[in-house]
Amino acid sequence: MSYVNMKSILTDARKNRYAVGAFNIVNYLTAKAAVEGAEELNQNIILQTSVKTVKAFGVIEMMSWLKPIVEEAKVKVAIHLDHSTDVAFTKTCIDAGWSSVMYDGSKLPLLENIANTKEIVAYAQKFDVTVEGELGAIVGVEDDIYVKEGEGAHARLEDCKVFLSETKVDAFAPAIGTAHGVYKGEINLDYDLFETINSNSPCPLVLHGGTGLTDGMFYRLIDLGAAKVNISTAVKIAYCQGMKDYMEQNPKQNNPLKLDAYVKEQVKKMVQEHIRFFSLSDRKRPNYEVDLHCHTTRSDGSDTPKELIDKASSLGMCVIAMTDHDVLPADKIEVNGIMVDMTAYAKTKGVKVLPGIEFSCETQAEDVHLVVLGCDYSDDKIREMNKKIVESKIHTYRELTEVLTKKGFPITWDEVLNYGGIPRKSEDVQKKIIFNLMAEKGYVETWSDGKLLCRNNPEYSVKRQKPKAVDIIKLAHETGGICILAHPYLIDETIKIDEKKISRDEFIESLIEAGLDGIEASYTYDKTTYHGKLTKNEIIEKIKEMYTDKVAIISGGSDYHADYKKTSKNIREVGECGISYDYFKNNACLSAIAK
Ligand SMILES: [Zn+2]
Ligand SMILES: [Zn+2]
Ligand SMILES: [Zn+2]
Repeated sequence: MSYVNMKSILTDARKNRYAVGAFNIVNYLTAKAAVEGAEELNQNIILQTSVKTVKAFGVIEMMSWLKPIVEEAKVKVAIHLDHSTDVAFTKTCIDAGWSSVMYDGSKLPLLENIANTKEIVAYAQKFDVTVEGELGAIVGVEDDIYVKEGEGAHARLEDCKVFLSETKVDAFAPAIGTAHGVYKGEINLDYDLFETINSNSPCPLVLHGGTGLTDGMFYRLIDLGAAKVNISTAVKIAYCQGMKDYMEQNPKQNNPLKLDAYVKEQVKKMVQEHIRFFSLSDRKRPNYEVDLHCHTTRSDGSDTPKELIDKASSLGMCVIAMTDHDVLPADKIEVNGIMVDMTAYAKTKGVKVLPGIEFSCETQAEDVHLVVLGCDYSDDKIREMNKKIVESKIHTYRELTEVLTKKGFPITWDEVLNYGGIPRKSEDVQKKIIFNLMAEKGYVETWSDGKLLCRNNPEYSVKRQKPKAVDIIKLAHETGGICILAHPYLIDETIKIDEKKISRDEFIESLIEAGLDGIEASYTYDKTTYHGKLTKNEIIEKIKEMYTDKVAIISGGSDYHADYKKTSKNIREVGECGISYDYFKNNACLSAIAK
């Protein structure tokens, strides 16, 4: 049967981690448009009626024309009463044939809300009608309440637990905050709270007040368990704007049927856009929700830290590590001209940012890179190490530009300092900038060819004094952090350490002995200088097999540099490589530094 209550619709959504659109219809035309839109996409739908709309038609009258539309539908449809604050009226609608109701006692004291909701649930059960409950003020949605900044905007977990166990509602809308947070105009959602409530809730969660949320925010909330999303404003806009547009385009016409047909099409289009979005059928999912290796303009990446966070948010990423080369991570970043706390900004976008550093180690070996995370970057030990590295870098990179110029590939230090039109200090110069310039000036085809040219020709190679890997592991631990070996397969198979030749595997063993915490398995080898025979997946399997018992973290990261701004070749994307959010959460070492 197509006319159902919300239970089976939302149970499937929750199980399969998508959300169902609940559209506030206002008349026959909008109801018909919504159902047809859902049918064409073969997706279930919830038609919602506001109390105002029901009262305008009359309870019995409205159901008399609404029910036939739903009973003939080719998908499951529930008819749901939205935000009813009146117990008696809610019961009247149950009597009249609504298959689902929301009793909204969120403005009442908790116990009163619970008592009324319980009464509705007991009544509704006799008719196999489902009930949605709400807790905590959702700022700006219910227009007659005013909640001050940071006050009452989030439901309390303890209250939620009591409410859920007492009322046994079928769907639950907890307030998770849309109040102004740290930044004026920025939406402050408490994703952690939402996730915790979901894991404590026997029933699916509902999202109210989604206007103004970005796609990424919706993705994160759906990932965290939102199974029903209410859409009201968009229906009103599509309907009224459709009428205005039609009349503007046909000012002399007085043809109601044509007008209706046009408006209906507009409403249907809007409904389908939302259904496609919430059902996630259009979603470009990142391969991994956690990416522990990304670069920004603070080293050789092309996205600013803010751009990287926004990008990660739009993709629905959960965690990213900002691991710029050999520079101390930012704690403040620029957002709309104001310096704001980086992790707090990311939180408003639904992304957890882990500040880190990717250290290049071992003077005589290439690509021995260690990613440190969770350190106290204000510690003198780490600052001193940073200073030493910066000095040696400036020295050798200047030398490299001079060598290249002598060899017929002119590059000036000034070009390096102003690369990409962004002036930078000598201490912020990365070697990759020189390789990028070589490619852009046409000396080589790609930056990695430039890198290989310099690496493989002794005349071009200018070696800089790099820290020893074991010293970086020690440094990470002394400053409260962890240390992960990046892209092990970019390290040469035989390397010279302390004038001794050893194999890559032996070298990694020595790092493990020195306390290495993790090793990167999932990495974009196919888009870098890796020329080995193994595929990306074969490397992942091999590293897991060799090191799962030896290190605490089998890590992963894309080594994102926002390549797309520089080239159309081998573009790495955030989340292309990484680890799953489940692995991240369940890994003791990672969750310790994520706090
Ligand atoms: Zn880089
Ligand atoms: Zn690296
Ligand atoms: Zn890197």
